[in-house]
Amino acid sequence: MRDKNVRPTEMIYLDNNATTRVAPEVFEAMRPYLTEIYGNPSSAHSLGREMKSAVESAREQVAQLLGATDTSEIVFTSCGSESDNWAIGGFLEQNPTRRHIITTRVEHEAVRNLCEHLAELGCEVTWLEVNRNGELDLDHLRKALRRDTGIVSVMLANNETGVLFPIAEVGRIVRENSDAVVHVDGVQAVGKIPIDLSKLEVDLFALSGHKFHAPQGIGALYIRRGVKLPPFIIGGGQESGRRGGTSAVPNIVGLGAACELAKNSDNQGIRSLRDKLEDQILSKIPNALLNGAPDREQRLPNTSNIAFEYVEGENILEHLNKAGICVSTGSACHSTTHESSPTLRAMNVPYTAAQGSIRFSLGRYNTPEEIEYTLNVVPGIIQKLVEMSPYDKELRVLYSARG
Ligand code: PLP
Repeated sequence: MRDKNVRPTEMIYLDNNATTRVAPEVFEAMRPYLTEIYGNPSSAHSLGREMKSAVESAREQVAQLLGATDTSEIVFTSCGSESDNWAIGGFLEQNPTRRHIITTRVEHEAVRNLCEHLAELGCEVTWLEVNRNGELDLDHLRKALRRDTGIVSVMLANNETGVLFPIAEVGRIVRENSDAVVHVDGVQAVGKIPIDLSKLEVDLFALSGHKFHAPQGIGALYIRRGVKLPPFIIGGGQESGRRGGTSAVPNIVGLGAACELAKNSDNQGIRSLRDKLEDQILSKIPNALLNGAPDREQRLPNTSNIAFEYVEGENILEHLNKAGICVSTGSACHSTTHESSPTLRAMNVPYTAAQGSIRFSLGRYNTPEEIEYTLNVVPGIIQKLVEMSPYDKELRVLYSARG
């Protein structure tokens, strides 16, 4: 067992919302397709047919994990960003008169920056607000829907805070009040919570393999039967003519294997480690505050975004890195502006807290010893930075009130 005071020889990886390690089971499933089995799945000979059959098995595995009713609803892409771009951009290309888009202020850049770009091109975008806990305002959605609303894009789980959006209700509201299609960015949710698209009013759903132990460079877009999108890549007719380009068979096989792994994991171990980490940091450190819904049922089981008021997130990250722990900041510091993340700003997290926000995102390979060690080093690092903080008056008040 690791001594909780000694820096580990391997880094402790608490940044699983950024990317995940390829699971050994996934690698083993991919290995033959990187070594002895090869061929182009579009070729008519037996080697090609073997590759094609591997692609179709993986499509089945993805469809099963998502609760898609038909495997033809799954199209392989290169990543989550591509799936999001294709869903929204493709819908608008197909329906050029329905140029009103509804989305939220806290989407990942793959949706947010795309919608900003589309606004510059003449689309009208309504940005739905969230409250201080990062929860969505459904009344705002109801009121925003119009006859010309083409697409509503709402993420299932927020990448920074882990807050879950009520997609079932979003789908119902959209269906009852408009003809808009519903796009869901499910990139952070797949592999972390159960998903059953057969029970949801969702037309388009994006996922990304590297967020749940498949390799980087593979994603998928679920396109509900009957929903029409133009091809994302015009080419040799692969993916039923919807996305040209020779299929990345090893990666596709890896994605299928990751879906299989996810189907058989309940993430309870991750949840209890996350709960312990969060509880102890919040109770031991007077200037620590949770960003996101306090009700953990409203959040992913692996994510804890904690603001350490009046200290710099980048400094915390550096000190944790030196201590052997990988995390992310919530402050996505743009070197010139030092703006905090749009998600935390949309939640009205004060600047002095947003700047000191750290995202801890756990995964299937984290151990209780790693969390013990982390809990042992975080208070000391924060204490050191508190002593250096220019906000000494504010911190003294906090420490005497909460300490
Ligand atoms: N959507 C969300 C919510 C994400 O967290 C990410 C990646 O962080 C993406 C989309 C983009 O996925 P990819 O990195 O596969 O392009």
